Amino acid sequence: MSGVYISYPFCAQKCTYCNFASGVFPRHLEPLYLAALRDEIRAHQWAWTPDTVYLGGGTPSNLAPADLHELLALIPGRPWSETTLEAAPGNISPELARAWVDAGINRVSLGVQSFADTEIRRSGRRHTAEIVAAEIAHLRAAGIRDINIDLIAGLSGQTESSWRESLDWIDRLAPEHVSVYMLEVDEDSRLGKELLLGGVRYGASDTPSDDAIAAFYEIAVERLAAMGIARYEISNFARPGYESRHNLKYWRLDPYVGFGADAHSFDGVTRSQNGETVEDYIAGRGRHTEPATADERLFVGLRLTRGIRPDAADWRRFGRPIRRFLKDGLLERDGDLLRLTNRGVLLSNEVFQEFLGA
Ligand code: SF4
Repeated sequence: MSGVYISYPFCAQKCTYCNFASGVFPRHLEPLYLAALRDEIRAHQWAWTPDTVYLGGGTPSNLAPADLHELLALIPGRPWSETTLEAAPGNISPELARAWVDAGINRVSLGVQSFADTEIRRSGRRHTAEIVAAEIAHLRAAGIRDINIDLIAGLSGQTESSWRESLDWIDRLAPEHVSVYMLEVDEDSRLGKELLLGGVRYGASDTPSDDAIAAFYEIAVERLAAMGIARYEISNFARPGYESRHNLKYWRLDPYVGFGADAHSFDGVTRSQNGETVEDYIAGRGRHTEPATADERLFVGLRLTRGIRPDAADWRRFGRPIRRFLKDGLLERDGDLLRLTNRGVLLSNEVFQEFLGA
């Protein structure tokens, strides 16, 4: 089965840790962007009928309900088995939640990141734990049965006790799905840049160490498992039956088509990416395509907790690094399945890098 991704990169603020091609853009670009998005969807030749739709970004929850309706009306296959809307907590009213359900949304992914006030403020977000709780109640009342909460390990001001506080809120709010990301430090976010320069802005001097972040991640794995929310992918945890059907396509190399700025597509043979910035996308610039490599199946699949079955070609290509990682305790075998060990999960970037260079 295949999926559709729609990118809406407009946000109310640019969060300090965010390294996506999203942010605050001049208001007049918004209608131009929506027109370009509708044109791109209308022009698409559907080789298959999608069964999942994912609206990400960005903050697609800021779309006017009429615009959301119009975009979804252009996608074939309704009702889809999973239709996710990424939402920033802070302005979800009972009316808005009902409008999303009317438009076809059945899953909401809340970019909470933290329930601790200091961390929320320093990252540039405006919600509080109580606001998130109230808004989840609105979503439930409107009929949303599948809610994800995103958390980030590594935010400025985060301590083991504040991290445990955020996990306590997860326990209280009982979402079906949780994503736990470890802070990414790179040039593409303001906080990342500051950390690389050794500066102090955005609370950079008060971010937890790599060891502390790894420990927070392991605490989350254990706590979430005790709540019945098991890890099924490096960053993703779900109650049984609530694993994200859309996101699983990325790790299983199922086809998907992405619409909007910076959106990626994969048809099983070719990967393509739209222009990265809002301006490039509106102007139809910057789209590029490249053949997919057969090799990626192995290391993309290794992100999944159940692991992957390497075939003869994988062994020929990656036999040497696989054997070394097995010896070093970063990979393990279960019959013909190959998977990351707990230590391998923490060092997964190094493992995947090795496969990329093999
Ligand atoms: S984290 Fe989300 S809300 Fe914040 S700037 Fe990035 S995409 Fe926008």
